[in-house]
Amino acid sequence: MALSLVDLHTHTTASDGTLPPAKLVAEAKRAGLRVLAVTDHDTLAALDEAEAVARRKRIEFVPGVELTAYHRGHEIHLLAYWVRRGGELEREMLRFRARRLDRMKTMIAKLRAVGLPVRESDVIRPGMGAVGRPHLARALVRLGHARDVSDAFARLIGTRCPAYVRKYRLSMKRALRLVRESNGVSVIAHPGKRGALDPLFAELKDLGLHGIEAYHSSHDRASIERYVAIAKRMRLIVTGGSDFHGEAVKPGITLGCVRVPLRVVGALRRAADA
Ligand code: AMP
Ligand code: ZN
Ligand code: FE
Ligand code: FE
Repeated sequence: MALSLVDLHTHTTASDGTLPPAKLVAEAKRAGLRVLAVTDHDTLAALDEAEAVARRKRIEFVPGVELTAYHRGHEIHLLAYWVRRGGELEREMLRFRARRLDRMKTMIAKLRAVGLPVRESDVIRPGMGAVGRPHLARALVRLGHARDVSDAFARLIGTRCPAYVRKYRLSMKRALRLVRESNGVSVIAHPGKRGALDPLFAELKDLGLHGIEAYHSSHDRASIERYVAIAKRMRLIVTGGSDFHGEAVKPGITLGCVRVPLRVVGALRRAADA
Protein backbone atom coordinates (compact mmCIF):
# COMPACT_ATOMS: atom_id res chain seq x y z
CA MET A 1 0.00 0.00 0.00
CA ALA A 2 1.27 3.46 -0.87
CA LEU A 3 2.10 5.93 1.87
CA SER A 4 -0.03 8.59 0.20
CA LEU A 5 -3.53 8.94 -1.26
CA VAL A 6 -2.29 11.59 -3.66
CA ASP A 7 0.49 11.60 -6.27
CA LEU A 8 0.74 14.68 -8.48
CA HIS A 9 4.03 13.94 -10.29
CA THR A 10 4.45 10.81 -12.45
CA HIS A 11 5.94 9.88 -15.84
CA THR A 12 4.83 7.33 -18.46
CA THR A 13 6.30 5.91 -21.66
CA ALA A 14 5.10 9.09 -23.39
CA SER A 15 8.31 10.59 -21.97
CA ASP A 16 10.99 8.73 -20.02
CA GLY A 17 8.90 6.50 -17.76
CA THR A 18 8.67 2.73 -18.11
CA LEU A 19 4.89 2.19 -17.73
CA PRO A 20 2.38 2.99 -20.48
CA PRO A 21 -0.40 5.35 -19.32
CA ALA A 22 -3.03 2.62 -18.78
CA LYS A 23 -0.61 0.49 -16.75
CA LEU A 24 0.44 3.45 -14.65
CA VAL A 25 -3.16 4.21 -13.71
CA ALA A 26 -3.87 0.54 -12.93
CA GLU A 27 -0.78 0.45 -10.75
CA ALA A 28 -1.89 3.66 -8.99
CA LYS A 29 -5.27 2.07 -8.27
CA ARG A 30 -3.58 -1.04 -6.87
CA ALA A 31 -1.38 1.15 -4.67
CA GLY A 32 -4.51 2.75 -3.21
CA LEU A 33 -4.14 6.23 -4.69
CA ARG A 34 -7.28 8.38 -4.80
CA VAL A 35 -5.82 11.25 -6.87
CA LEU A 36 -3.25 10.86 -9.64
CA ALA A 37 -1.60 13.35 -11.98
CA VAL A 38 0.41 12.36 -15.04
CA THR A 39 3.17 14.88 -15.77
CA ASP A 40 5.30 13.69 -18.68
CA HIS A 41 8.18 15.84 -19.93
CA ASP A 42 7.12 18.23 -22.72
CA THR A 43 4.14 16.24 -23.97
CA LEU A 44 0.42 15.77 -23.33
CA ALA A 45 0.39 12.51 -25.29
CA ALA A 46 -0.41 10.22 -22.33
CA LEU A 47 -3.28 12.23 -20.91
CA ASP A 48 -6.25 10.95 -22.95
CA GLU A 49 -5.49 7.29 -22.28
CA ALA A 50 -4.67 7.90 -18.61
CA GLU A 51 -7.82 9.92 -18.08
CA ALA A 52 -10.05 7.29 -19.68
CA VAL A 53 -8.62 4.51 -17.51
CA ALA A 54 -8.78 6.68 -14.40
CA ARG A 55 -12.48 7.27 -15.03
CA ARG A 56 -13.12 3.53 -15.32
CA LYS A 57 -11.15 2.81 -12.17
CA ARG A 58 -12.64 5.73 -10.27
CA ILE A 59 -9.40 7.53 -9.56
CA GLU A 60 -9.52 11.31 -9.61
CA PHE A 61 -7.30 12.33 -12.52
CA VAL A 62 -5.33 15.56 -12.88
CA PRO A 63 -3.81 16.16 -16.34
CA GLY A 64 -0.32 17.65 -16.21
CA VAL A 65 3.00 18.19 -17.93
CA GLU A 66 6.58 18.91 -16.77
CA LEU A 67 8.51 21.60 -18.65
CA THR A 68 12.19 22.49 -18.44
CA ALA A 69 12.82 26.22 -18.45
CA TYR A 70 15.64 28.60 -17.61
CA HIS A 71 15.79 31.66 -15.39
CA ARG A 72 18.92 33.65 -14.43
CA GLY A 73 21.16 30.74 -15.34
CA HIS A 74 19.16 28.19 -13.35
CA GLU A 75 17.53 25.18 -14.99
CA ILE A 76 14.06 24.91 -13.49
CA HIS A 77 11.43 22.19 -13.89
CA LEU A 78 7.92 23.53 -14.05
CA LEU A 79 4.79 21.44 -13.56
CA ALA A 80 1.65 22.66 -15.27
CA TYR A 81 -1.80 21.22 -14.57
CA TRP A 82 -5.04 21.41 -16.61
CA VAL A 83 -3.35 22.96 -19.63
CA ARG A 84 -5.82 23.45 -22.48
CA ARG A 85 -5.38 20.91 -25.28
CA GLY A 86 -4.47 22.47 -28.60
CA GLY A 87 -3.52 25.71 -26.85
CA GLU A 88 -0.41 27.88 -27.08
CA LEU A 89 1.61 25.66 -24.75
CA GLU A 90 0.88 22.49 -26.68
CA ARG A 91 1.92 24.25 -29.91
CA GLU A 92 5.14 25.37 -28.26
CA MET A 93 5.85 21.76 -27.22
CA LEU A 94 5.44 20.66 -30.85
CA ARG A 95 7.96 23.30 -31.97
CA PHE A 96 10.24 22.22 -29.14
CA ARG A 97 10.25 18.59 -30.29
CA ALA A 98 10.96 19.68 -33.87
CA ARG A 99 13.94 21.76 -32.66
CA ARG A 100 15.28 18.79 -30.68
CA LEU A 101 15.02 16.63 -33.78
CA ASP A 102 17.05 19.17 -35.80
CA ARG A 103 19.62 19.36 -33.04
CA MET A 104 19.95 15.57 -32.99
CA LYS A 105 20.50 15.49 -36.75
CA THR A 106 23.27 18.07 -36.35
CA MET A 107 24.90 16.01 -33.57
CA ILE A 108 24.77 12.89 -35.74
CA ALA A 109 26.37 14.80 -38.65
CA LYS A 110 29.15 15.94 -36.29
CA LEU A 111 29.78 12.36 -35.18
CA ARG A 112 30.08 11.29 -38.80
CA ALA A 113 32.48 14.19 -39.41
CA VAL A 114 34.83 12.74 -36.77
CA GLY A 115 34.64 9.31 -38.40
CA LEU A 116 31.91 7.58 -36.40
CA PRO A 117 29.20 6.17 -38.65
CA VAL A 118 25.80 6.73 -37.04
CA ARG A 119 22.56 6.79 -38.99
CA GLU A 120 19.60 8.92 -38.01
CA SER A 121 17.50 5.74 -37.86
CA ASP A 122 19.88 4.36 -35.17
CA VAL A 123 18.67 7.11 -32.83
CA ILE A 124 15.40 8.49 -34.10
CA ARG A 125 12.33 6.24 -34.08
CA PRO A 126 8.87 7.21 -35.32
CA GLY A 127 6.51 8.03 -32.49
CA MET A 128 9.20 8.81 -29.95
CA GLY A 129 8.70 11.93 -27.85
CA ALA A 130 11.45 14.48 -27.39
CA VAL A 131 14.74 13.04 -28.60
CA GLY A 132 17.77 13.71 -26.38
CA ARG A 133 21.38 12.85 -25.73
CA PRO A 134 20.48 9.76 -23.64
CA HIS A 135 18.99 8.21 -26.80
CA LEU A 136 22.13 9.08 -28.77
CA ALA A 137 24.38 7.74 -26.01
CA ARG A 138 22.58 4.38 -26.00
CA ALA A 139 22.86 4.18 -29.81
CA LEU A 140 26.61 4.89 -29.61
CA VAL A 141 26.97 2.03 -27.11
CA ARG A 142 24.94 -0.34 -29.31
CA LEU A 143 27.07 0.56 -32.33
CA GLY A 144 30.28 -0.05 -30.40
CA HIS A 145 31.42 3.58 -30.59
CA ALA A 146 31.35 3.97 -26.81
CA ARG A 147 31.89 1.55 -23.94
CA ASP A 148 28.88 2.77 -22.00
CA VAL A 149 26.63 5.80 -21.65
CA SER A 150 29.02 7.75 -19.44
CA ASP A 151 31.89 7.06 -21.85
CA ALA A 152 29.72 8.47 -24.68
CA PHE A 153 29.06 11.63 -22.65
CA ALA A 154 32.69 11.94 -21.53
CA ARG A 155 34.29 11.66 -24.99
CA LEU A 156 31.65 12.48 -27.60
CA ILE A 157 28.45 14.23 -26.61
CA GLY A 158 29.14 15.98 -23.28
CA THR A 159 29.18 19.77 -23.08
CA ARG A 160 32.74 20.30 -24.28
CA CYS A 161 32.89 17.35 -26.68
CA PRO A 162 33.16 17.29 -30.50
CA ALA A 163 29.53 16.36 -31.22
CA TYR A 164 27.84 18.56 -28.61
CA VAL A 165 25.15 20.96 -29.77
CA ARG A 166 23.43 23.26 -27.30
CA LYS A 167 19.68 22.76 -27.07
CA TYR A 168 16.98 25.36 -27.43
CA ARG A 169 16.19 26.90 -24.07
CA LEU A 170 12.68 27.93 -23.07
CA SER A 171 12.73 30.89 -20.69
CA MET A 172 10.79 30.65 -17.46
CA LYS A 173 9.09 33.91 -18.31
CA ARG A 174 7.77 32.49 -21.57
CA ALA A 175 6.87 29.14 -19.97
CA LEU A 176 4.79 30.85 -17.28
CA ARG A 177 3.08 33.01 -19.87
CA LEU A 178 2.26 29.99 -22.04
CA VAL A 179 0.78 28.11 -19.06
CA ARG A 180 -1.30 31.13 -18.14
CA GLU A 181 -2.51 31.57 -21.73
CA SER A 182 -3.49 27.89 -21.75
CA ASN A 183 -5.53 28.27 -18.54
CA GLY A 184 -3.15 26.02 -16.60
CA VAL A 185 -1.80 26.14 -13.07
CA SER A 186 2.00 26.35 -12.74
CA VAL A 187 4.04 24.81 -9.94
CA ILE A 188 7.81 24.87 -9.53
CA ALA A 189 8.88 21.21 -9.41
CA HIS A 190 11.31 19.82 -6.78
CA PRO A 191 13.14 23.09 -6.00
CA GLY A 192 15.72 21.00 -4.13
CA LYS A 193 17.14 20.47 -0.66
CA ARG A 194 19.62 23.33 -0.80
CA GLY A 195 17.16 26.11 -1.52
CA ALA A 196 19.13 27.47 -4.49
CA LEU A 197 15.94 28.72 -6.15
CA ASP A 198 14.42 30.36 -3.05
CA PRO A 199 15.61 33.87 -4.01
CA LEU A 200 13.73 33.57 -7.32
CA PHE A 201 10.29 32.70 -5.93
CA ALA A 202 9.04 36.29 -5.53
CA GLU A 203 10.00 37.22 -9.07
CA LEU A 204 8.49 33.99 -10.45
CA LYS A 205 5.28 34.64 -8.58
CA ASP A 206 5.08 38.06 -10.26
CA LEU A 207 5.51 36.24 -13.59
CA GLY A 208 2.50 34.04 -12.80
CA LEU A 209 3.78 31.09 -10.74
CA HIS A 210 0.99 29.52 -8.65
CA GLY A 211 2.75 27.04 -6.41
CA ILE A 212 5.70 25.07 -5.07
CA GLU A 213 6.12 21.29 -5.09
CA ALA A 214 7.15 20.92 -1.45
CA TYR A 215 6.51 17.17 -1.11
CA HIS A 216 8.90 15.33 -3.43
CA SER A 217 11.01 12.18 -3.32
CA SER A 218 14.23 14.24 -3.47
CA HIS A 219 13.28 16.46 -0.49
CA ASP A 220 14.03 15.57 3.12
CA ARG A 221 11.69 16.38 6.01
CA ALA A 222 13.42 19.67 6.78
CA SER A 223 13.20 20.96 3.20
CA ILE A 224 9.56 19.90 2.91
CA GLU A 225 8.76 21.90 6.04
CA ARG A 226 10.76 24.85 4.75
CA TYR A 227 8.92 24.95 1.42
CA VAL A 228 5.52 24.60 3.13
CA ALA A 229 6.41 27.59 5.31
CA ILE A 230 7.69 29.66 2.38
CA ALA A 231 4.54 28.89 0.37
CA LYS A 232 2.32 29.89 3.25
CA ARG A 233 4.21 33.16 3.74
CA MET A 234 4.14 33.95 0.03
CA ARG A 235 0.58 32.79 -0.58
CA LEU A 236 1.64 30.14 -3.05
CA ILE A 237 -0.08 26.77 -3.13
CA VAL A 238 1.78 23.59 -2.15
CA THR A 239 1.73 20.34 -4.14
CA GLY A 240 3.65 17.11 -4.14
CA GLY A 241 4.37 13.81 -5.79
CA SER A 242 6.78 10.92 -6.13
CA ASP A 243 8.25 11.72 -9.59
CA PHE A 244 7.66 8.06 -10.39
CA HIS A 245 9.41 6.91 -13.60
CA GLY A 246 9.38 3.13 -13.02
CA GLU A 247 11.80 0.84 -11.22
CA ALA A 248 14.30 0.66 -14.10
CA VAL A 249 14.68 4.44 -14.33
CA LYS A 250 14.32 5.54 -10.69
CA PRO A 251 14.75 2.52 -8.43
CA GLY A 252 12.91 2.71 -5.12
CA ILE A 253 10.60 5.54 -6.18
CA THR A 254 7.15 3.95 -6.14
CA LEU A 255 3.74 5.49 -6.87
CA GLY A 256 2.51 7.33 -3.79
CA CYS A 257 5.81 6.89 -1.94
CA VAL A 258 5.77 10.54 -0.89
CA ARG A 259 3.06 11.49 1.56
CA VAL A 260 1.00 14.36 0.12
CA PRO A 261 -1.92 15.71 2.18
CA LEU A 262 -5.30 15.28 0.48
CA ARG A 263 -6.16 18.97 1.04
CA VAL A 264 -3.45 19.92 -1.48
CA VAL A 265 -5.76 18.75 -4.27
CA GLY A 266 -8.52 21.17 -3.27
CA ALA A 267 -6.08 24.08 -3.20
CA LEU A 268 -4.78 23.14 -6.65
CA ARG A 269 -8.32 22.96 -8.03
CA ARG A 270 -9.18 26.35 -6.53
CA ALA A 271 -6.09 27.87 -8.19
CA ALA A 272 -7.27 26.38 -11.49
CA ASP A 273 -10.76 27.84 -11.09
CA ALA A 274 -9.57 31.28 -9.97
P1 AMP B 1 19.69 16.72 -23.50
O1 AMP B 1 18.49 17.36 -22.86
O2 AMP B 1 19.37 16.05 -24.79
O3 AMP B 1 20.86 17.67 -23.59
O4 AMP B 1 20.12 15.53 -22.51
C1 AMP B 1 20.28 15.81 -21.15
C2 AMP B 1 20.19 14.52 -20.37
O5 AMP B 1 21.34 13.72 -20.60
C3 AMP B 1 20.15 14.73 -18.87
O6 AMP B 1 18.83 14.87 -18.40
C4 AMP B 1 20.76 13.46 -18.34
O7 AMP B 1 19.74 12.48 -18.21
C5 AMP B 1 21.67 12.99 -19.43
N1 AMP B 1 23.08 13.26 -19.11
C6 AMP B 1 23.71 14.46 -19.08
N2 AMP B 1 25.03 14.31 -18.78
C7 AMP B 1 25.23 12.98 -18.59
C8 AMP B 1 26.37 12.16 -18.26
N3 AMP B 1 27.58 12.69 -18.07
N4 AMP B 1 26.19 10.82 -18.15
C9 AMP B 1 24.97 10.27 -18.36
N5 AMP B 1 23.86 10.97 -18.67
C10 AMP B 1 23.96 12.31 -18.80
ZN1 ZN C 1 11.97 12.32 -16.31
FE1 FE D 1 11.94 17.14 -12.88
FE1 FE E 1 9.55 14.61 -13.18
